[in-house]
Amino acid sequence: MTSGDNLFGRLLKRAPTAAHELPDPLGAPSTGLHLYLDGAGGVLQMAGPLRHLLAQHPPHGQPLPLSAYLLAHSTLAVEGQPRDWQSQVLDLDFSSHGEQPLHLRGWVQPLGEGWLLQLIDIADLLRERQQSRHREACQALAAQVSERLRTCSLTRLPAVLGEQLQAIAQHWHIPCLAVALLDEQGQGWQIHQAFHRHDAPQLWQDGQRLGTALDSLNGTAPQRFGAHHGLQEHTRVQAIFASANGFAVPYSNDQGVVAWLLCGVYAVDQAAPLLTDRDWLSLAGALAGPLLSRLREQRHQQSMERLESLQTLLGTGWWETSDAGGIALAPSLAATLHLNDARLPVEDWLKQIHPADRDELRSRLHALQRQGEALTLCVRLHHTDAGQSPAWYRIQGQVSGTGEHRRLVGFMLDISDIQNQQQLAAAAHARLDNLIASSPAVIYVQRYEEGALHPAFFSASLQPLLGWTLEECSAAGLIERVHPEDREVYFERSRQLLREGSVRTRYRLRDRRGDYHWLLDEARLLRNDLGLPVEAVGLWLDVTDATLAAEQVRLSEERYRILVEDSPAMICRYRPDLTLTFANRPLATYLECTPEQVPGIDLGGWMSDEQRSAFVQRLTLLTPQQPVSTAEISLQLPGREHAWWVWSDRGVFDESGQLLEIQAVGRDNTEVRRSQQQLTQSAKMATLGEMATGLAHEINQPLNVMRMAIVNVLKRLNNGEVQLDYLIDKLNRIDSQVQRAAKVVDHMRVFGRRSEIEQQLFNPASAIEGTLSLLAEGMRGKGVDLRISATGFEARVCGYVDQLEQVLINLMVNARDALLARRVNDSAFKPWISIYAERDEENVRLWVEDNGGGIDPRLLERIFEPFFTTKPIGVGTGLGLSVSYGIIANMGGHLSVCNSVEGARFCIELPLATDA
Ligand code: ADP
Repeated sequence: MTSGDNLFGRLLKRAPTAAHELPDPLGAPSTGLHLYLDGAGGVLQMAGPLRHLLAQHPPHGQPLPLSAYLLAHSTLAVEGQPRDWQSQVLDLDFSSHGEQPLHLRGWVQPLGEGWLLQLIDIADLLRERQQSRHREACQALAAQVSERLRTCSLTRLPAVLGEQLQAIAQHWHIPCLAVALLDEQGQGWQIHQAFHRHDAPQLWQDGQRLGTALDSLNGTAPQRFGAHHGLQEHTRVQAIFASANGFAVPYSNDQGVVAWLLCGVYAVDQAAPLLTDRDWLSLAGALAGPLLSRLREQRHQQSMERLESLQTLLGTGWWETSDAGGIALAPSLAATLHLNDARLPVEDWLKQIHPADRDELRSRLHALQRQGEALTLCVRLHHTDAGQSPAWYRIQGQVSGTGEHRRLVGFMLDISDIQNQQQLAAAAHARLDNLIASSPAVIYVQRYEEGALHPAFFSASLQPLLGWTLEECSAAGLIERVHPEDREVYFERSRQLLREGSVRTRYRLRDRRGDYHWLLDEARLLRNDLGLPVEAVGLWLDVTDATLAAEQVRLSEERYRILVEDSPAMICRYRPDLTLTFANRPLATYLECTPEQVPGIDLGGWMSDEQRSAFVQRLTLLTPQQPVSTAEISLQLPGREHAWWVWSDRGVFDESGQLLEIQAVGRDNTEVRRSQQQLTQSAKMATLGEMATGLAHEINQPLNVMRMAIVNVLKRLNNGEVQLDYLIDKLNRIDSQVQRAAKVVDHMRVFGRRSEIEQQLFNPASAIEGTLSLLAEGMRGKGVDLRISATGFEARVCGYVDQLEQVLINLMVNARDALLARRVNDSAFKPWISIYAERDEENVRLWVEDNGGGIDPRLLERIFEPFFTTKPIGVGTGLGLSVSYGIIANMGGHLSVCNSVEGARFCIELPLATDA
C-alpha cells in the first residue's frame, strides 16, 4: 500500500489549504479515480482520468450516493457510511460505458469535512489472475492429452487422438479442430486427423492434402485469420479455413515446424480471450509432440515387422557373438535352421555347417575375432538326408564396437537358389561349350581394322572341322584356303558385311588334308556408339553334306524331269474333274499343243459320253489303299483315227482321304489294238478257212437239192409230161435253196468283215443263230447231234456280235474235233454238242458242252495259252481258245472250262448291259 500512502501523503500536504475549498480539494491526480464523499457517502466531486470511463456522471444539484455508480454486486461493499469503510480495502466494480465494468480498488480516509476515496484500476490484476486460472486449466488439459497419447496402445492411437481433439475443442469451444502434419515425403501438409463439432461445417477430412500454403506462415507464433485480421497475403491459407475465421498454432522441434493445430470457424480472441499464445503453443506441443513420437514409433515398428518378414522370406538373419563365447541368432534364422534355441555355443552353430566348409568357417571366425578381418564365406548346411540338394548360406561378419563393447556381428543369407542356379548355369554353360566345340559350327570373330577384317577368334570346333589354328588363319591365310572359284563370293561377302551389317552366304574352304568343305557363313557386324564397325561375329556351318545332297536332289530332279519330259510315255496330272494341270511333251504333242498350253484342257473332251462316265466311274473306285487303276481307254481325237491308250492312274489323296489329283501314265496302244484286231481278223479268216469243208457242205446241200430238182424237171420236160403246178413247186424249192445258200454266203461275208470300232448292244442269241447258220449243216453232215436250247431268249450285252460268233464257232469246232477223234476209235459212239443259255440279274451265260471225253485235267489250265495245242502240226494252231479268251475278256466277260461227265463244258459269261 506504499503507493496509497504516498498518494495519501501528497494529498495531506495540500490539505490545509484545500480543506474548505470544495471546488478543488482533490487536485488532478494523474492515475486512477479520486472521489470526494460527504459523510453519508454521496459523491461530491471526482477527479482522475478514469472518471471519463464511468457510465454515470455526477449530476448538478443533489449528489448521488456512491452505490449509484456501482454495479449491483459491489454495492454490498459500500453499505453504511464512509466512516465504516476506513481501514478496509474496497474492491468496487463501476458501471462503465464500455463493454467491461471498471474494476477498481480503493481506500477511504478523512479529508477535510468529507472523505476521500482513492481508487486505482485493478482490471489487469484481475485479468492476470483469471489468465493464470485458465493457464492452469490449459496445462492440466495439455498434460492429460500428452499423457493419454503417450500411454495408449498404438492400435488405439487414432481413437485416443480423436478423443483428445474432442476434449480440446469442447474445452475451448472450437467448432473445427485438426492436426496437420508433414506428408510422408515432407513436401507438403496433410490433415492427420480432424474433429468437427456436430453443428460445424466439415472443413477437413482425415488425410486431406493441404499443399505448402502453411509454410508461408510465421512458425514461431499462433496465427489468426479472418475478417478482423485481414491477412491478405495468406489467401492460400485462408482457403484452408474456407475464408472463415481461423487460428493456426505451430509446433516446432529441432527440424523446424513439424505440426500445426488448426482451429476452424474460430475467433480465438473472443472465444478464449484469456488464453495466451504461449498457452496455445504449449497445448499444441502437448498434442503434437507425443503424437509425432508415437507415429515415429509406429513407423519404426512397421519397418521392424517388414524387416522381420523380409528376413524370414529371404532366409536371412543376423548373428552376434556374446561374451560367454556363445552365439545368438535372429529368431527367424534359428527357426529356419531348425534350432530349438536362438542362443547356442559357437561349436553347436558350426555343427550346422557342412563338414567340407566347417573348418574354413571356424578359421575365418578366429581371424575375425583376433585380427578383425572381415568375414565373407559361402557355406553349405549339413543336411542329414542325402537326397536333398544342399542349402547354401552366405555368412558375413565384422567387428562392431571397441573395448568392452567389442562384438562380432553379421548375417547369414540363404543363397541356395542363386547357388543352385549358378551351378545349373555352369553346367549348361559347360554343355554349351561342349556342344559348340563338338558341333560342325565354328563361331568366329573378325576384328575391323582400317576397312579390313582380321580373324581374331575361332571357337574350339575349328580344329576338328578344318584342322587349323587361329594363327594359320590370318586374313591372307584364310583367303588362300577359299576355293578359287568361290574367292569372288568371299570378297563380296566381306564387302556386303561392311555395307549392310550382316551377310549370309556359302563358299568352300580347304581343310588341312586338302578337302573342301561347303560352309554356310552367317555374319553380323558390331558397331560402337559412333556407328563405326568394331568387329564381325559370325558362324560357319559345315553344310557339305547338305549341299551335296541338295545337288544330288537337283540332279535327280533334273533326271526325273528329263525322264518325264523325254519319256515316250504320255505323263500327265489332272484334277478329279478331268482338267489337265500338266502334260509332258509326248502327250501334248499327241493333243497337238505345247506342254504350256495343256493346263486347263478337259481330258474328257476327247471321250464319248459313255467312255467319259466309265472313266469317271473308274476314278471313284480309287482309294488311298488302292490308289492305282489301269485300263485301256479309247479317245476320239479330232480329225484323227480312233486312239487306244493303256492308261494307268494313281490317285493323290489328302489326309481325309479326299482325292486331290490324279497322276497318269499312258501308252498309245492303238497299234497293238490294231494288230490285235488284225489277229482276231486273221483268226476269223482262219476259222473260216477251217470251216471251208463245213461251208462247202453247207452250200453243197442246197446245190444238191437244186440239182435233184432240176434233174427231175428236165426228166419231165424230156418226157413231155410237164405240168405247170409241178414246175412251180420245183422252182419254188430251187428258190428256197438259192436263198439258203445266199444266206450262208451273206453271213460269211458279214463274219469276214472287220469288227466295228465301237462296241454295240446285241442279243447273244443272234450270235448263236449266226454260228448255227454257218455250222449246223456241216455238223449234222458229220453225224453230230446238235442240241440247241438257247435261241429266242431276251438279253442284251455290249460288244461285237461277230466276235462272239467267232468264239462260239471256235468252241463248236473244237468240240467237233474232239468228238470225231473219239469216233475214230469207237464207231458206235453217238456224238452230240449241246448249246444252252441261262441269265440272272447281272450276267448271261452261254454253255457249249460236248461228249467228246473232256480235256486231260493236267492240261486244263494251259489250254487258253496261245499256241497250246494237242493237235498234230499243221492241224491245230493253238490260237483258237486264246483269241476267244481275249475276245470275251474284252467284252467284260469271262471264258472258262470244266470237264462234265461226258466231255468238256465251256462257259461264256457276259455282263448284261445296263441302261446307264
Ligand atoms: P487248236 O484247236 O488249234 O488246238 P485251241 O486253242 O482251239 O487250238 O485248242 C487248244 C487245245 O484245247 C486243243 O488242242 C485241245 O487239246 C483242247 N480242246 C479244246 N476244246 C476241246 C474239247 N471240246 N474237248 C477236248 N479238248 C479240247
